[in-house]
Amino acid sequence: MSNTQNQPNILFIMSDDHAAHAMSCYGSRINETPNIDRIANEGMRFDNCFCTNSICAPSRAVILTGLYNHIAGVRTLVENFDSRQQTFPKLLQKVGYQTAIVGKWHLGHGGDSDPSGFDYWCVLKGQGLYHDPLMFENGEAKTFPGYATDVTADLSLDWLKRRDKSRPFMLMCHHKAPHRPWTPDEKHAHMYDDVTIPEPETFYDDYAGKSEAVLEAKMRMEHLKPVVDLKSEVPEGLSAKEEKQWRYQRYIKDYLRCIAAVDDNVGRMLDYLEEDGIADNTIVVYTSDQGFFLGDHGWFDKRFMYEESLRMPFIVRYPKAIKPGSVNKDMVLNLDFAETFLDYAGAGIPDNMQGQSLRPLLEGNTPADWRQSMYYRYWMHCDDAHNVYSHYGIRTHDYKLIFYYGEAFGLKGSRDLPKNPEWEMFDLRKDPYEINNVINDPAYADTKAKLKTELAALQEQFKDEPVNK
Ligand code: CA
Repeated sequence: MSNTQNQPNILFIMSDDHAAHAMSCYGSRINETPNIDRIANEGMRFDNCFCTNSICAPSRAVILTGLYNHIAGVRTLVENFDSRQQTFPKLLQKVGYQTAIVGKWHLGHGGDSDPSGFDYWCVLKGQGLYHDPLMFENGEAKTFPGYATDVTADLSLDWLKRRDKSRPFMLMCHHKAPHRPWTPDEKHAHMYDDVTIPEPETFYDDYAGKSEAVLEAKMRMEHLKPVVDLKSEVPEGLSAKEEKQWRYQRYIKDYLRCIAAVDDNVGRMLDYLEEDGIADNTIVVYTSDQGFFLGDHGWFDKRFMYEESLRMPFIVRYPKAIKPGSVNKDMVLNLDFAETFLDYAGAGIPDNMQGQSLRPLLEGNTPADWRQSMYYRYWMHCDDAHNVYSHYGIRTHDYKLIFYYGEAFGLKGSRDLPKNPEWEMFDLRKDPYEINNVINDPAYADTKAKLKTELAALQEQFKDEPVNK
């Protein structure tokens, strides 16, 4: 066992569907997140943190295991997690940590899918409710009165207060917010009432030159459900453009109101660390399970390998090792989180984990051979609600290549609707908003060939199979 004096506490705060471009520390044009910003201002902001599959349950499985989805066994929203497998919380327990998870789990319930490796767990049932959520506390079903974001922070703080102070802790505080159906609390219900939220640059993207997969996705403003999502019927007499604008305002304001409550509760957690005198010896992370389209490309939701959904907010404070206000632009992944925590805990990083510890990056020493590209795969083909086609691809610092292979392979949560294969490629240097698909542009032929070769190499490295069609 390591010397616990040198083992930092780990407070991992993760929200659900909170895009980096709705955080003021990432330059948001649409909201302020003063408490979340404290973590970035006093720590490090990662500008190129990406998820390997932009959807809830799969991202959570990657974070727990340090493995890609096809290895961790959660490729879609409806494949339950097998908690008998190796996870970083289990390994932390072995080196003396007390561990807990509070809030969203979303990896299945009962039997082998309940949380494992946690001394305390209290998780929302499924997606969870915003008000008076039903939760499973160490397996026992209980309803907790109140607003889910407050309840999650309350239960987290309660556990911190009764922990064994002679040992380090690792707490995963997982907010449901700001996940659909974007239900604010009373305190923030009228925030933004008197303002018009700016529309994103690509709000009116006409998808010219893009794939059928893009055209067929049901993630446009028109696919938001009036009463459930927008809390109102659509007013009569609006033009199509006016209705799109109205839908965006209804959606984005409630989304941002939910984030305001998360931000308040992040502040409460940070205040507790100060009051308890443990801020210096605690690694604090704020992240989200993936990004989100905030009207970008006219969309809500995630799933696509496009920037807004691929990018995760990822900020880390650890006063003992991280220079305040630092910014990192290296390519990092949710695949790396487990390895990072194990590294700091002195627990050893198992050989089968597929990510890399971020410790050298956090300490300002990026290794010369750090990754220059990342592999992505969205498996959940043509789900009923969003109809996004299955795809995989590669992102480098300058380019992105996406292959919509369009097959379900019998996976739960997918529909057996095979599609014609399609490719997209973007030059992120010239086209950061991914408007111009250059896949057929002869000027990019060499680059395309290199990216395809590198994509195949990444699939081999991560033990995934290419789809030949
Ligand atoms: Ca999510």
